[in-house]
Amino acid sequence: MDKRTFLKICSAAFASPFLSKMAAWALGEKLHNWAGNVEYGTDRVYSAGSLEEVQEFVRKQSKLKVLGTRHCFNHIADSRDQFLSMKAMDKVVDLDAQARTVTIESGMSYGKLCPILESKGWALHNLASLPHISIAGACTTATHGSGVKNGNLSTAVSGLEIVNAAGDVVKLSRARDGETFRGAVVGLGALGAVTKVTLDLQPSYQMQQYVYENLPLSELTKNFDAIESAAYSVSLFTDWQNKRINEVWLKHRMENGKSFDAPAEFYGAKRATKNMHPIAELSAENCTEQMGVPGPWYDRLPHFKMGFTPSAGQELQAEYFVPHKNAVDAILAVEKLREQVGPHLYITEIRTIGADHFWMSPCHNQDSVTIHFTLKPDWPAVRQLLPVIECELAPFGARPHWGKLFTMAPARLDSLYEKLPEFLVLARKYDPQGKFRNEFLNTNVFGTAS
Ligand SMILES: Cc1cc2nc3c(=O)[nH]c(=O)nc-3n(C[C@H](O)[C@H](O)[C@H](O)COP(=O)(O)OP(=O)(O)OC[C@H]3O[C@@H](n4cnc5c(N)ncnc54)[C@H](O)[C@@H]3O)c2cc1C
Repeated sequence: MDKRTFLKICSAAFASPFLSKMAAWALGEKLHNWAGNVEYGTDRVYSAGSLEEVQEFVRKQSKLKVLGTRHCFNHIADSRDQFLSMKAMDKVVDLDAQARTVTIESGMSYGKLCPILESKGWALHNLASLPHISIAGACTTATHGSGVKNGNLSTAVSGLEIVNAAGDVVKLSRARDGETFRGAVVGLGALGAVTKVTLDLQPSYQMQQYVYENLPLSELTKNFDAIESAAYSVSLFTDWQNKRINEVWLKHRMENGKSFDAPAEFYGAKRATKNMHPIAELSAENCTEQMGVPGPWYDRLPHFKMGFTPSAGQELQAEYFVPHKNAVDAILAVEKLREQVGPHLYITEIRTIGADHFWMSPCHNQDSVTIHFTLKPDWPAVRQLLPVIECELAPFGARPHWGKLFTMAPARLDSLYEKLPEFLVLARKYDPQGKFRNEFLNTNVFGTAS
């Protein structure tokens, strides 16, 4: 069975708890994440269709996890007991033009929301590399795109509705709830079931995307800030070989409808003459339009189009955030590992993210640069490689992505989050018995074995 057929079956399967079991049965395997590297501990999925159903279900369970679109590569979403899916709850609840906000039910994906916003003249400030992911799952794990001035996707959140462990509805807003709000937005799924999310909007805008090939590494290290600031959103792709960045993706915002005149050369890199995939050997069919063709924000900010497999498809991912000021040194440190990394790597992506104030965000109070690894799906080899990368990046204060693979010791992780003690207090207030906690959270965040 190919991946597209699998995704179709699973998407239908989430419509009902009965069907989810059928899908697992039809596949002869348990429910698993998008990448297929995590087989979840249960295939029991309850699909809620309303807030009341969520409340009733949460009240009845002693242990559960909310499942989003299953795009995390680690066990953060896993459960041995019971899943709650809100995939069927995917409506726009309110679009407030005056407040410039949209409120959505938490089963909504960016892929579904963005065309709706565009049709009404509105946009979001940024998107991840793919639109397929749920907004609630993305925001609770601090998912990000790129851009020196762009905060991660969670920074667009101005309000949350959460069903806590008691089944009660809690409403939080940026304007009213200050520090509690800052603790709750990147909640890692530990506070309860997020049932609604309110996001900041801005007027719709057009973008142009250009790709440049073969940027000399020496140019990058000399001109890092200028290169990263050369467009609204910049992504650098490298295989770490031959002292070069293979591809530079520049995503320009067309202010007042004005086109960006892209030069043929960019710091020694040459403008591509055809659409590219970040992994140059793969077809660009799955990728958003390039070559400067103007298009709406939601069709240029992600690298991959909705309706197509994003990235390589069969892969593992790991990603580390370092403070922006350490970026060049961190990049050079990883480059030293090129011989070790090379055989396991499809591609690395380097992006920038603006600082935010969310307690458990890897960008908490610091402008950051991420070094991401799309790796071949060989976990025994990747498990050997990640500690080597983590050791090399440790002097730069690297924090792993909450939704990707890492091997960092929990004690080290804890030491990187100064607001962790406050977060634990908040989580225990919303969920005193650990109903929404799983082994991943107990080990990596709560510091206790499950
Ligand atoms: C091909 C690919 C490309 C990616 N690109 C990027 C990228 O560009 N940038 C980036 O930062 N990340 C990227 N990611 C990672 C991805 O964005 C995150 O893993 C994100 O969490 C996925 O959301 P999800 O809904 O699939 O989460 P899931 O894996 O389903 O769940 C993740 C966590 O969120 C919780 N959760 C989900 N929904 C709710 C809810 N309603 N209430 C409470 N808790 C909830 C779950 O319990 C779990 O703890 C990529 C992943 C893939 C597979």
